[in-house]
Amino acid sequence: MATKSTGTKAGSTTTQGSNGQKKESLLEKFFLDQLKDIYYAEQQLLKAIPEMKTACTTEELEDAFDNHLKQTERQVKRLEKVFEIMGKKAEGKKCEAIEGIIKEAKSIIGETKKGSMTRDAALIIAAQKVEHYEIATYGGLVQLAITLGKRNAANLLDKTLGEEEDTDRMLTYIAEAHINFDAEEEDVKSSSMAEAEA
Ligand code: FE
Ligand code: FE
Ligand code: FE
Repeated sequence: MATKSTGTKAGSTTTQGSNGQKKESLLEKFFLDQLKDIYYAEQQLLKAIPEMKTACTTEELEDAFDNHLKQTERQVKRLEKVFEIMGKKAEGKKCEAIEGIIKEAKSIIGETKKGSMTRDAALIIAAQKVEHYEIATYGGLVQLAITLGKRNAANLLDKTLGEEEDTDRMLTYIAEAHINFDAEEEDVKSSSMAEAEA
């Protein structure tokens, strides 16, 4: 099958280098690129999660953020191991997507009342947007690592993928257990209080 010409010699990325070492393929380059993307994202999250934690109304959500912060610290170390397996130094590359999601989380904090249950209901959704971005990235990275024959890297990435999925489920559980309900109630309470005062 013919592929579109890119103007470079076909297969030039998989030929032997002058030192006899196999040069990285285009797929491996893309894999490393995505690895840098998520490494940057996790580091941004190390700064953002504490801010989200401080904004929480309930202790329950605060604990969930706290636990995930500790997990995130371990995830960063795990990514550093994956870089090592790939024979590269760990480095981040600006990820516009996570910056946007974090920006949205911060605006949610600004738009909801401090100490309200609506604040927590909104923070949960903001946090789940983060988790879903991570799940998409780690899910893809696991598959690429398997394709590239990097089993150990795939296992490490899969461990983190599991943690992000667990966190997403945990957040759904917290929301459905009572926070969403309480948030709806608080609206009723505050509006009936306003009516009583009027
Ligand atoms: Fe993470
Ligand atoms: Fe990204
Ligand atoms: Fe996460």
